[in-house]
Amino acid sequence: AHLDRIAAVDERLNAFITVTADTALATAADVDRRRAAGEELPPLAGVPVTHKDLISTSGIPTTAGSRMLADFVPPYDATVYRKTQAAHMPLLGKTNLDEFAMGSTTEHSAFGRTLNPWDPARVPGGSSGGAAASVAAYEAPLSVGTDTGGSVRQPAAFTGTVGVKPTYGSVSRYGVIAMTSSMDQVGPVARTVADAAALHGVLAGHDRFDSTSLPEAVPDFTAAARAGAAAGLAGKRLGVIKQLQGEGWEPGVLAAFRAALDAAEAQGAEIVEVDLPALSYALDAYYLIMPSEVSSNLARYDGMRYGLRAEPESGTVTAETVMAATRAAGFGAEVKRRIILGTYALSAGYYDAYYGSAQKVRTLVQRDFARAFEAADALVSPTAPTTAYEFGAESADDPMALYLGDIATIPANLAGIPGMSLPAGLADGLPVGFQLLAPAREDARLYEVGAGLE
Ligand code: GLN
Repeated sequence: AHLDRIAAVDERLNAFITVTADTALATAADVDRRRAAGEELPPLAGVPVTHKDLISTSGIPTTAGSRMLADFVPPYDATVYRKTQAAHMPLLGKTNLDEFAMGSTTEHSAFGRTLNPWDPARVPGGSSGGAAASVAAYEAPLSVGTDTGGSVRQPAAFTGTVGVKPTYGSVSRYGVIAMTSSMDQVGPVARTVADAAALHGVLAGHDRFDSTSLPEAVPDFTAAARAGAAAGLAGKRLGVIKQLQGEGWEPGVLAAFRAALDAAEAQGAEIVEVDLPALSYALDAYYLIMPSEVSSNLARYDGMRYGLRAEPESGTVTAETVMAATRAAGFGAEVKRRIILGTYALSAGYYDAYYGSAQKVRTLVQRDFARAFEAADALVSPTAPTTAYEFGAESADDPMALYLGDIATIPANLAGIPGMSLPAGLADGLPVGFQLLAPAREDARLYEVGAGLE
């Protein structure tokens, strides 16, 4: 049924870069066979899933949304893909994204833009726009995305789905094409909090192939969601972040957010306001640390080892001219912009002023969160200041406007804490996201509170 739905709508929607019908049907048939033989299978066996095309799948193209990797077929699996396979979840395909996960609209993909199922004149958000659109359009029940500065939560907000960024280190990054290694996290996109909990449980867990992987056992997210749905929000303290509202925030977004808070209060939640002054500098810190790591991580695309190789149009063919020609042809404008910014921020003479200062801000953000969580069980804000942008409106011409739209999501990545976006009604007919943040390693709390809010 999902493959039929993809065939019916995806030519227009373009949520997928690759559809893997044969792989999906083979897994589904295998599940049927095992069930018929009386085998006990894990809970999501037979439930289809998609992976963002940043996640390596052996034998299946993995492009990162870039010309650089347009013909790349990885020789190995990312741990998170291995896990959905071990859970017997049929892979429907690989979803569209902004090139190397850099962007908030999925317009920066070498494979065309993805439409928002709610309004084809608008973006689905990004960079996991294909993942969110595929779930919102009923092409897939579950999707795996990545979130470095909001790339799961913001598209979830723009498409009326649930998206989660786990605690840094709690889901393996092995085989996930690197953007900003100190912030990248894989997370689930789903239509309900309980669905997200089930997929999150499959993805999480220690991985010896990821040096930043946490050793803790995986909590039972599904049990947390059930407990939250049963108990409601009575006695839960929700901390409204003072810095994430007010000027520059769409009135319709704030109204929907307020209405959700009122509903929580009516259920017995206690609403408090929390002050996180360092958030005023969080965006600036992110847009220095992120490009710095990008410039370093993307140095590997040199035209020599794998991926695109372009020869210089004229002059001598040397390692350097091949590298220059390859990177000029293979990367899009936004990726180039970030490589240049990052190279500058890391250069001798500027390192302390930019990268060093940004790392200090990162510590201040972490301290602000630690203090705020003394006053609240979960922190809340709208996921983004606006609803889904119209195509072309803010995007290509004005990168700054888009960077500002990440204000609510990037603090969690700087601090490594988990966050969830869940639907909070509509503003002018478009979905609004409600963001929940919890302390590091307390991802289960997101499901407990989220299910209570839902
Ligand atoms: N929009 C943010 C950026 O462009 C987030 C990207 C991400 O989370 N991968 O950097």
